[in-house]
Amino acid sequence: MSRTGMSRTDPNPSAESWRWPESEWRRHVDAVRAGRRLLPDRWPGGARVAVALSFDPDHETIPLRDGETSPGRLAQGEYGARAGAPRILELLARHGVPATFFMPAVSALLHPEEARAYTRDGHELAVHGWIHERNTLLGRQDEKELVSRALRTLTDLTGRRPVGIRTPSWDFSDSTLHTILELGFAYDSSLMADDEPYEILAEGRPTGLVEIPVDWIRDDAPYFTMDRYGSVRPHSRPRDVLEIWTDEFDAAYREGGVFQLTLHPHVIGHRSRMAVLRELLDHIAAHPGVWYATHAELAEAARTALRPESPEHTP
Ligand SMILES: [Zn+2]
Repeated sequence: MSRTGMSRTDPNPSAESWRWPESEWRRHVDAVRAGRRLLPDRWPGGARVAVALSFDPDHETIPLRDGETSPGRLAQGEYGARAGAPRILELLARHGVPATFFMPAVSALLHPEEARAYTRDGHELAVHGWIHERNTLLGRQDEKELVSRALRTLTDLTGRRPVGIRTPSWDFSDSTLHTILELGFAYDSSLMADDEPYEILAEGRPTGLVEIPVDWIRDDAPYFTMDRYGSVRPHSRPRDVLEIWTDEFDAAYREGGVFQLTLHPHVIGHRSRMAVLRELLDHIAAHPGVWYATHAELAEAARTALRPESPEHTP
């Protein structure tokens, strides 16, 4: 982090990028890049589409991360744990659908029973930072220390070592890929270079790390989050959002790809929005050939597309 507080995700006109030689803009672009698209020949069970639902139980860590400690702000996060998470678990159980929960470690320490309930109900619990920190504001050592601590915390709470990671706010720093590889994660779910899983390249070299890509389109927060003191009121009608997500699923189904969704208990967990999630799951369930997978299972299936081709296929 520079002394001005500016991170590499902020616009930086003083960089004067128009003066950069080709080697410089290429170096930035090539640092972390999408490699091979990882679509297996068929999804498990011969399914036509893979559906990977994820929930990020950030709860109180969003205000805490920014040093906003007023009870009023924290209560908005607490809603996710008290009202949102139980509704979500109940809906998933009713549909018999697994999901992945990317939980910040501080959130898991505040709500240990909730963290255990996720794994007890057959869902996947995965890493989502320590206190929802912004990685691009951290040095390499600090970032790695926080991810290591988060990994240890979730492992101690549930008795299982998470295999996946999603960076908080999908904030991916220059150090993030090194940290993920050093700590031995099987997959990441923070980048946006494709609709389908892909292998991450580091400076042009294959890493073997599977990316399960995300996008703001398939996230509840941009549609429903409101900043009380900002001028923008991005409240969307839940049913308009249902239409967007339904179109995303229908296209993934036609293309034989992946439909991935990122939701937050403190956002989607409200009554009028859960109605939409219920309708979306009903819409998906009305299709034959749907494979519901945790992100770890999806990464595992995608990994089969990474294996070297058998000798008879090698030219
Ligand atoms: Zn988050």
